[in-house]
Amino acid sequence: MQIGIPAEIVAGETRVAATPETVKKFIAAGNTVVVQAGAGVKASVPDADYVAAGATIAADAAATLAGSDIVLKVRSPQPEEVALIKEGATVVGMFDPYRNPNLDIYAGRKLNSFAMELLPRTLSRAQNMDVLSSQANLAGYKSVLLAACEYQRMFPMLMTAAGTVKPARVVIMGVGVAGLQAIATAKRLGAVVEATDLRPTAKEQVESLGGKWLDVPMSDEEKAKALGTGGYAWIPSEQYVKDQAVIVDKAVSNADIVITTALIPGRNAPRLIKAETVAKMRAGSVILDMAVESGGNVEGSVCGETVNTANGVKILGIPNIPGTVAAEASALYARNLLNFVVTLFDQSGAFAINRDDEIQKALLVTFGGDVLLQKK
Ligand code: NAD
Repeated sequence: MQIGIPAEIVAGETRVAATPETVKKFIAAGNTVVVQAGAGVKASVPDADYVAAGATIAADAAATLAGSDIVLKVRSPQPEEVALIKEGATVVGMFDPYRNPNLDIYAGRKLNSFAMELLPRTLSRAQNMDVLSSQANLAGYKSVLLAACEYQRMFPMLMTAAGTVKPARVVIMGVGVAGLQAIATAKRLGAVVEATDLRPTAKEQVESLGGKWLDVPMSDEEKAKALGTGGYAWIPSEQYVKDQAVIVDKAVSNADIVITTALIPGRNAPRLIKAETVAKMRAGSVILDMAVESGGNVEGSVCGETVNTANGVKILGIPNIPGTVAAEASALYARNLLNFVVTLFDQSGAFAINRDDEIQKALLVTFGGDVLLQKK
């Protein structure tokens, strides 16, 4: 099979879907790999490294895609890319499936589209394919550094001859993969960290990283709901939202740095921080809204912009934080894709999509002319 790696065309996307390491493995398994010239440059992978791994470099997207049976992408193909992809080809990438307006276009081209975000994450054999975790982990780390760079004070406590420097107070809202890494990173920089999540099981994880758990009271009914969602967020009751708002208001208005990561798969991000809370923060505080691309956790955050509020707070709406560590993010993402793509070959080494396979079935959003994704 020919595997094609086009350059990403979505504005601001710096990652690439294959690295020399994964290219070598695809070739060792009997495939050929064609990489578009310059596809890896923004992720610090020069064309020469792909050539050394055995790939062929194609001059443009058309030459990369025309003969490729499998296309590896970071972002879902745009209509102008679909027109260049061979009819019936298999495409693997992050399709943003619930907000993707182009599924009919993929189906029209009879593409077999696998959306990596739909991975059943609790399956242990799926863990090395988990792009949400690999990218969120890096984003959680980098979010703290990005916020620290905008903050005009220090993170650690310092005792100096010129006086004592107080440690930064950091609040993390949402303690999934990104939130946990953000807690660990902020702690390593010397901050005092508080965190909350609507999954009560996150308390132990926060405390094991040295953070303080911001407890929102929960009814027994809500606790049962929280345990019944397979580790994912649930839609909280009005009472929970009210109680949470009071606790968030108090913690955030006293914080120096706030990082919000709260997401609910397939839905808009919950609004957790109100403008009136931001208005109580002291000048120089920084909020980084990691959910800004999914509607935002913070009232007033704007995707792609730094909002400076009247009281001197900076609200950072940085999109695609994994793309700011493109070399590492691509390395992990490419391995996730490799680990999935090998499952598309049967024991004799022949390419064979298996719609009974639990993982393939979950990821497949278009197949043979049909859109399979059910809107949530
Ligand atoms: P996510 O990116 O979907 O969301 C981030 C966090 O925001 C979650 O912890 C969520 O509970 C929280 N959140 C959502 N709405 C909220 C609200 N209104 N108030 C407060 N917090 C809110 O999360 P994720 O990093 O993808 O992780 C989701 C779950 O999947 C976690 O339980 C994680 O441990 C689990 N997970 C399991 C595996 C595995 O089993 N292999 C792998 C990765 C993640």
